[in-house]
Amino acid sequence: MRLKVLGAYGSDGQGQRPSAFLVDDHVLVDAGTVGGALSVPEQIAITHAVLSHAHLDHTVGLAFLADTLAMVAPERSVTACSIARVIETLRTHVFNDALWPDFMAIPNRDAPVLKLRELPEEGEARVGELWVTPVRVEHTIPTTGFAAVGGFDQNTPATPGHVFEVACTANCASFTWTNKSGNLPNIPVDSIIGNPLFPQQVFAGTDWGLYYTDDITQNPPTWFRFQAGLPNTMIWDMAIDRDNTALAVFTRSRGAFAWVLPDGPVPVGLLGFEVN
Ligand SMILES: [Zn+2]
Repeated sequence: MRLKVLGAYGSDGQGQRPSAFLVDDHVLVDAGTVGGALSVPEQIAITHAVLSHAHLDHTVGLAFLADTLAMVAPERSVTACSIARVIETLRTHVFNDALWPDFMAIPNRDAPVLKLRELPEEGEARVGELWVTPVRVEHTIPTTGFAAVGGFDQNTPATPGHVFEVACTANCASFTWTNKSGNLPNIPVDSIIGNPLFPQQVFAGTDWGLYYTDDITQNPPTWFRFQAGLPNTMIWDMAIDRDNTALAVFTRSRGAFAWVLPDGPVPVGLLGFEVN
């Protein structure tokens, strides 16, 4: 997968372009910047735009891309994909012939340059050559999120660490990142997930297996190795089902494993959990 960063700011300024990422030349992930970063042939090659939300810093480039297609390549089209409420906002408030032309009717309704497509929430959908799963996150209220950082500290000596927590004020006017790596070994963290039943509990999937902390709010938090019958293998991804009943762990080479999610600290010595 080739990822090109077209912009990564929540505003527009000299050297600061709004958020957009181009995947494998054909699929935009957010569309805050398109024409400002791509030649016309590169713009015409775009077939889909996956949009996180409707805010202008994530969508304004789509408005101009539709215009560019209409002017120079009306036989082509771009399909904007998102959850239903985002699509509805674009339809009602952007491409409404008031704020911007209705490019779903240009050059005609049968073969327009802009198509809108709803994606099922938390379900996989094929978008171009990609599989895409929309996952709801909080926004425009105080927000917290987690990032997992792969690689080894030796490669990023200025910013060692593998787990960081971001705390965001309203509208993300300001945010701070805190290193939550604690006693984790210096190994790549490939996936991370919080327990919705016990939010201070966080699981980190690493190249060496699974770790967890019962209290991510500590500075630093204490991480424990979590084996419980797991092979010593790379944890590639993790997921929690919609009803918050189980943690699924997907390994790199040994298959998938699942546990019943606790609603409190991981019970040492119970339920087959083993702490090293
Ligand atoms: Zn926003």
